[in-house]
Amino acid sequence: MKKVLICGAGGFIGSHLVKRMKEEGHWVRGVDLKYPEFSATTADDFIIGDLRDQRFCRMIVDQPFDEVYQLAADMGGAGYIFTGANDANIMHNSAAINLNILDACYKRNIKKTFYSSSACVYPEHNQMDPSNPVCTESTAYPANPDSEYGWEKLFSERLYLSYQRNFGMAVCIARFHNIFGPEGTWTGGREKVPAAMCRKVAEAADGGEIEMWGDGNQTRSFLYIDECLDGVRRLMDSQFSGPVNIGSEEMVSINQLARMVMEIANKQLKIRHIPGPEGVRGRCSDNRLIAEKINWRPTKPLREGLEKTYKWIAEEVTKKAKN
Ligand code: NAD
Repeated sequence: MKKVLICGAGGFIGSHLVKRMKEEGHWVRGVDLKYPEFSATTADDFIIGDLRDQRFCRMIVDQPFDEVYQLAADMGGAGYIFTGANDANIMHNSAAINLNILDACYKRNIKKTFYSSSACVYPEHNQMDPSNPVCTESTAYPANPDSEYGWEKLFSERLYLSYQRNFGMAVCIARFHNIFGPEGTWTGGREKVPAAMCRKVAEAADGGEIEMWGDGNQTRSFLYIDECLDGVRRLMDSQFSGPVNIGSEEMVSINQLARMVMEIANKQLKIRHIPGPEGVRGRCSDNRLIAEKINWRPTKPLREGLEKTYKWIAEEVTKKAKN
């Protein structure tokens, strides 16, 4: 049994990771500004507090945990990170969290620390062609991310790697590509595109229409939460530090994604394209490095995860309509 600390344990990926670590039989402390929204935490210990506060970070890293997973960030979907309106908060809050938690881990001799970076680190100029985006790990430099969120992730990757280089800390860094699944944010402005599509389709009457930001020809790949956690766990059990992509190579356009959700819901809807924050034109995980280093690759098609996610969001929509 390991002793594990999960920062961001009230969020989407963090709350699922708590469940996974408990199923594996470990002792887990979760930390977040809030409890998970959609089901009770299964952590042995859950501390509410602000990781921007250095003293709070020292207080929660009060023992030599075997593993620390740092997932806390000020983040959201395109509507949150690409408008420019939240840039100062995104950069300040997430950088402060990483500076504080990593230093607290160093002072407590933490054996291994995981950091969740993002596909948003990749340069905009390599992601202009929707049918041929380049997201090979080594292409992150020369750097030119299209959002401040991406720049903060790059800075923090370098911070973790510096502690590894100078202080001998073991770190693992994954660049997540659009993780989705049940119990993720699905409304309120921070939701990401799979959840937003599921919500729009669930809310629409058959024969009606949904809105979509942009022309829908922009491409992405999406990874189901369980597969993401398989990758994270395998990475942490390996000697490989990364940064490495954890994502799917099944690239779809946003129009195709919307049609897939409509098929799952068995609804015929028109798509009304409206202006909105879109991000880069194309993005897809390149899994060659992770396959070579730790022999991991996703095993399930997008449709399978989308079916589970649609079912959950449709139930949430129904619950909300009744209240
Ligand atoms: P999330 O927003 O659901 O979870 C992040 C959690 O961090 C939230 O619960 C939030 O309350 C917490 N947090 C924020 N500021 C805090 C603070 N000052 N103190 C304590 N807790 C604080 O996001 P997620 O989708 O679970 O993402 C987890 C990590 O993975 C993030 O670092 C994110 O940038 C990264 N990531 C996610 C995706 C994705 O597709 N979900 C893609 C790339 C990278």
